[in-house]
Amino acid sequence: MTAVAVIGAGPAGLMAAEVLAEAGCAVTVYDRMPSVGRKLLMAGRGGLNLTHSEPLDRFVARFGTASPRLGPLVEAFPPQALVAWAEGLGQPTFVGSSGRVFPKSLKASPLLRAWLARLQGLGAAFRPRHDWTGWEAGGRLRFATPAGEATASPDAVVLALGGASWPKLGSTGAWADILVSAGVPVSPLRPANGGFDVAWSELFRDRFEGQPLKGVALTFGRVRVRGEAMVTRHGLEGGAVYALSAALRDAIATDGQARLWIDLRPDTPAAQLQAKLAQAPANQSAANRLRKAAHLTPLETNLLREAHGKDLPSDPAALASAIKGAPLRLTGIRPLERAISTAGGVAFSAIDEQLMLTARPGVFVAGEMLDWEAPTGGYLLQASFATGVAAARGVLKRLEGLVLD
Ligand SMILES: Cc1cc2nc3c(=O)[nH]c(=O)nc-3n(C[C@H](O)[C@H](O)[C@H](O)COP(=O)(O)OP(=O)(O)OC[C@H]3O[C@@H](n4cnc5c(N)ncnc54)[C@H](O)[C@@H]3O)c2cc1C
Repeated sequence: MTAVAVIGAGPAGLMAAEVLAEAGCAVTVYDRMPSVGRKLLMAGRGGLNLTHSEPLDRFVARFGTASPRLGPLVEAFPPQALVAWAEGLGQPTFVGSSGRVFPKSLKASPLLRAWLARLQGLGAAFRPRHDWTGWEAGGRLRFATPAGEATASPDAVVLALGGASWPKLGSTGAWADILVSAGVPVSPLRPANGGFDVAWSELFRDRFEGQPLKGVALTFGRVRVRGEAMVTRHGLEGGAVYALSAALRDAIATDGQARLWIDLRPDTPAAQLQAKLAQAPANQSAANRLRKAAHLTPLETNLLREAHGKDLPSDPAALASAIKGAPLRLTGIRPLERAISTAGGVAFSAIDEQLMLTARPGVFVAGEMLDWEAPTGGYLLQASFATGVAAARGVLKRLEGLVLD
């Protein structure tokens, strides 16, 4: 029986383990943590967004420059296959209003429980508390464990070690140094889908930290996104911000700052807002006018002051355009540890079509540790699962002798 080591028991590694075990391999799954799938469980806390229901070409385009490499892998294990797989584990799904797909339970724990039972039924062995530290000179895998060093020399290896966000859940990105020393090109790990710094006034920060701006539109450059943003102590985060985060991050890296425009009333044309504001008595303060005529909340009114300055215009046309476009200066990105996901990773130039490292024949790579990024919306998990399937199929093909070194 061929022995395969899967290192990293997140969605990508466990999916690779399933495909390999089903094909009859002796699979051992290693993870540095005492239990598996911690980030998957965390993802389930806010409602597990498994994938997205939009047409496949639009779905694949979400991976930006990585689309040409990831596209075929997602097409080989598309959202419908993931939905069928989840349903096979007793987790029926539904499509939310935004097109996002969730398990009906919304949680990851029932899915993970059923999945682990299936993997154990298929004979997969689990080795928790095994921290992969690289290769010995002879090529054996080396692990640090509470009982000391352990080694293994399987016929093939799948590395599915995740990115470097939320390191307390297990994925620290420490693998990057190991792979770079092994001659594998790795693009720097950077935060993706993370928050940004805004120099709020102390008053604003203390009063509005933790409050959401709902139903707003954010614009950066020529891209406009509808959704929610959350005011944080440091600045802004949330779905609409994440959707722009790659472009904002890159702009800040180049220019030291980025200007983000907020439209607080995206469904109301400026002329309509102006007409409503013009009906208010001329002696009414700007704050009262905004509240009574435009129904702005205290958070929204104060956000306008943060963006436009303390003295808001009294002219209805100017006030309406202030509501439609409040500029915020983003001065930095929150650290990688706090981001939802990681950009950068093992370069696609380092792997072949089967996801095998050219510098390390027999070693395959899957999941977030590959150099791709995508917005939130189910794309991260879909790509992790799909690359897990692809890496396992790559292993099988190699073991069958169909791929020559
Ligand atoms: C708060 C939060 C919410 C999220 N919500 C969603 C969502 O709703 N939808 C979505 O699509 N995505 C979501 N994501 C992202 C998604 O969870 C990840 O993209 C996905 O888990 C990546 O899968 P992976 O298998 O590549 O890596 P991981 O899930 O990170 O798994 C990697 C595993 O490798 C192990 N490991 C790392 N280094 C070593 C080592 N040296 N030796 C041994 N083991 C090691 C880790 O312990 C870990 O178990 C969310 C992320 C966060 C943080």
